[in-house]
Amino acid sequence: MRTPPRVSGGAGQSDRPHWARMEIWREFRFEAAHLLPNLPDGHKCKRLHGHSYRVRIFVAGEPDHELGWVLDFADISEACEPIRRRLDHYYLNEIEGLENPTSEALARWIWRHLQPTLPILSKVEVSETCTSGCAYRGD
Ligand SMILES: [Zn+2]
Repeated sequence: MRTPPRVSGGAGQSDRPHWARMEIWREFRFEAAHLLPNLPDGHKCKRLHGHSYRVRIFVAGEPDHELGWVLDFADISEACEPIRRRLDHYYLNEIEGLENPTSEALARWIWRHLQPTLPILSKVEVSETCTSGCAYRGD
């Protein structure tokens, strides 16, 4: 993977146009089963069910002076692939750290597993349905 570009401008860059800090994102999807064990009996989310999850990974930085982009989208996909494989078609409750796999817990879990290989990570969005989701910007 290419070395991520510098996250922000600094001394010696006064010849560059002033870029607003920019975010780009890449999306991946996976299918998984879960239940939320801490909910009261009778809540529908306490029953075993599945979702087609959509995850958007945001990275932030200044576009590279020569290449014109913050990061190659393919680099984001490459960094996400081990995480996608770890989640896709699994029972999320059985994964360490996801014993109560809410969207919030999943967003934090993905952040913690992705951030070491993608240090300019700026946000993780997890949607478990078309109309509901969670955004996490790190601890
Ligand atoms: Zn659910």
